[in-house]
Amino acid sequence: MKLASFQHAGRSRIGRVEGDHVVDLAAAAATLPQEMVALLEAGAGAWAIARDADGPRLPLADVTLEAPLRRPPKILAVGLNYRDHAEEAGMEIPKVPMIFNKQSTSVHPPGAPFHLPRASDKLDYEGELAFVIGRRCRHVPEERAHEVIAGYTIVNDVSVRDWQMRVPTFTMGKSFDTHCPMGPWIVSGDEIDPHTLAIRTWVNGELRQDSNTKHLIFDCFALVAHLTEAFTLEPGDVVATGTPAGVGAARKPRSYLEAGDEVRIAIEGIGELVNSVIEEPAETASF
Ligand code: MG
Repeated sequence: MKLASFQHAGRSRIGRVEGDHVVDLAAAAATLPQEMVALLEAGAGAWAIARDADGPRLPLADVTLEAPLRRPPKILAVGLNYRDHAEEAGMEIPKVPMIFNKQSTSVHPPGAPFHLPRASDKLDYEGELAFVIGRRCRHVPEERAHEVIAGYTIVNDVSVRDWQMRVPTFTMGKSFDTHCPMGPWIVSGDEIDPHTLAIRTWVNGELRQDSNTKHLIFDCFALVAHLTEAFTLEPGDVVATGTPAGVGAARKPRSYLEAGDEVRIAIEGIGELVNSVIEEPAETASF
């Protein structure tokens, strides 16, 4: 099952994507929550209704996709989780996962341009597999981690490299507004082996990252076990699992994103996340 958040006729809701159409679950299953975190919190019964409900179909071309989770409770991410990326960054292969947060306000829809911020011109992309938590959980053994993962999506872990690297923590450089494009939808965990997927990123049509999730140093299930040693994961939490080699900062010469560029990330079995870059608009100032 592919579950998307979308807008149509001015209303946000959830749909099940089938081919080039989406089953409008607001019409097909009116009792279901029409927001993804609430749907996940509603549990397995609601998930089953979303899977089976039949009703009006809308052409995908006629709806506006939103990020599948507009405001995840937590967004966690993993640094240096592909050997070739650690090597290109000149860093040691981590012995424990290097975890950081992206702020939940950084979430951005598929297809919407993200910002080249006023604060920096060192803007970079990172194509990543992300998993979505479906059940409140703590102390999950690795062999049961699949039970708490609702599904998988794509995240662009957009990074402002000078802000990321000039202080010891990544929090600021990874969390500018619009810098967590996510989507196009969530593919349920029963339909995908997360550790055999081709992952590729193009910038303006040029292939920049070309790897496979089998090269993850700490895979999704090991990450669940590690994270829940320390804290509770909740429905709707998103974990971006890290990026393979080929980021702009590691190219020679370095190659950062500019306004007008287009970043396309494709992960086998999930789909494509495409976003262009615009100058941060003047109207972002708000106080
Ligand atoms: Mg990353």
